Amino acid sequence: MNVPSYSSDDAPVPTGMVVIERAITPLDLGPKFNRTAADVVRFMMQQGEMVTATQSLSDELIEAFAKDLDAEVKLVDPGEEQEVELRKMLGFEDEDDASEDDAPIRPPVITVMGHVDHGKTKLLDNIRRANVVEGEAGGITQHIGAYQTVRGGNTLTFIDTPGHEAFTAMRSRGAQATDIVILVVAADDGMMPQTIEALNHAKAANVPIVVAINKIDRENANVNRVMTQLAEHELIPESFGGDTIVQEISALQGIGIDDLLDQLVVVAELEDLRADPNERAQGVVLESNLDIGRGPVATVLVQEGTLRVGDPMVSGAAWGRVRALINDKGENVKEAAPSTPVQVLGLSDVAEAGDDFVIAPSEKVASKVADTREHWHRQSSLGRDSSATSGGARLEDIFEQIQRGEAANLNLIIKADVNGSLEAVTDSLRKLETPEVKPIFVHRGVGGITENDIALAAASNATIIGFNVRPDRKARETAESENVEIRTYEIIYKLLEDIESAMVGMLAPEFEEIVTGDAEVREIFTVPKIGKIAGCYVQNGVITRNSKVRFIREGTIIWKGEVKSLRRFKEDAREVAAGYECGIGLSDFQDLKDGDTIETYEEREIERSIS
Ligand code: GDP
Repeated sequence: MNVPSYSSDDAPVPTGMVVIERAITPLDLGPKFNRTAADVVRFMMQQGEMVTATQSLSDELIEAFAKDLDAEVKLVDPGEEQEVELRKMLGFEDEDDASEDDAPIRPPVITVMGHVDHGKTKLLDNIRRANVVEGEAGGITQHIGAYQTVRGGNTLTFIDTPGHEAFTAMRSRGAQATDIVILVVAADDGMMPQTIEALNHAKAANVPIVVAINKIDRENANVNRVMTQLAEHELIPESFGGDTIVQEISALQGIGIDDLLDQLVVVAELEDLRADPNERAQGVVLESNLDIGRGPVATVLVQEGTLRVGDPMVSGAAWGRVRALINDKGENVKEAAPSTPVQVLGLSDVAEAGDDFVIAPSEKVASKVADTREHWHRQSSLGRDSSATSGGARLEDIFEQIQRGEAANLNLIIKADVNGSLEAVTDSLRKLETPEVKPIFVHRGVGGITENDIALAAASNATIIGFNVRPDRKARETAESENVEIRTYEIIYKLLEDIESAMVGMLAPEFEEIVTGDAEVREIFTVPKIGKIAGCYVQNGVITRNSKVRFIREGTIIWKGEVKSLRRFKEDAREVAAGYECGIGLSDFQDLKDGDTIETYEEREIERSIS
């Protein structure tokens, strides 16, 4: 890239606020201030930053550049400007026209937050169960990411994100769609780091907090100590003369839950939450995944208006006419009013958890908006790719680069089973950023690792991280020939640990999993006393009894276990080779379907050499 060498130091700087997209390059930044790319690069050098004209700049550098010119700058996320246009196209330009004052009351949306193991999941389960007792026939069977319960004629909506602690990231996102936060603190443990983090999230979102002191059934429960700690964090309990509602509960024994629900009803009344059910529906995506039979499935929370089957929906780059709506009881419904969570079928693509959705005036507009975003995403990720290629390193080489005193970009491609884990993995990885190493996400997606991912990794010098997903055989072969590293994980902490270790040059010896064989499930038999047997056709390698297996459906690991029994015709077999049929008995996993793949593997340690 030729950088013009003349200086334009004297040209006038624009007055007023200059809007700049984050991660802009000197090439694009210069002209915004009537400067050349060379001016920008020279300024960066003076700051001790060696950047090329086509490399992305950090927020700090952009701000420093503007400050040097005495110019005002407003940083926006890529696409934010275009979004304003798209909202207009959707007919939402006059955002705050309708006064909500005379709209009907809507149920509050409640998120449970707190430290790991303090009982968030137990509490959510308890409230869910209580609903079945009070509630309608059939009861709640579905985990769709949120549910509703009724207390004394009042409906309450609970966001019920996955119980895994690494999903705090998702919970904090949930807080944006939340009217009330229940802060769970275990009486025997007191306030802990994640309690405080959750508290800060809720405060930042300006959401009222109801404290539930849980596990009061425990012998070493110390409610008073928790009260004192709360007071120290500006949550002065009512019993101390403050205005923070504190409810003592035992999620395990069901103590205080009804009182807690009553308190929530009171807080909701004070908040006076209203929404007009007669508008076009809008809301937020809570969870989404690709379902084998049903295609993309998104759980959304309706925030305004009423969502109906047949509505043209658009969310991010996904769009479609709503084919079906399924409520938290697994029932098909025709419509969903404000504060109702529903699963939506019919979208073209897996929507992003945390994204907004809206109903477009027509299907045509919905598709146009989605296409524009898609096009725009592609362009911006192309831009990112090129900067990633130039300065990026793989996981294995990152330490060497740091040692040479170079700040390094760690290029990653992240694939995960569902959007929720994709978000959680990315958010956690982003937090590992140090002055020396910056993770760059060349691509992120839901689904198995494909040949396309490998090609992109090879082109952009990236390492592929798979979370609960596997490469198919073709992808594995291409990865080998292209020398692309794929690391797959099923535990998020293990993943983070590995990346952190790589950053300090201590990447642990990897247990390479050598795939020894794979078989396609063609039929399922039930054998009395033994359970389910999968009738399989061995496609590659050899299937051996007792070997470890992964059950894979469309590239996603759905279960892991062992081959418990192996039979050819009626005989027990020690191994069965490719090209033969066999019956595989599975350790306690019974949910196989025909078309699934059973993959067997061995673990072998590979030492890593760090020069
Ligand atoms: P989370 O990580 O906050 O979702 O916590 P969980 O709901 O998974 O609970 C963590 C552990 O605490 C589990 O073993 C629960 O059975 C236990 N637990 C939750 N609530 C109570 C309670 O009220 N009393 C007692 N004794 N144990 C509880």
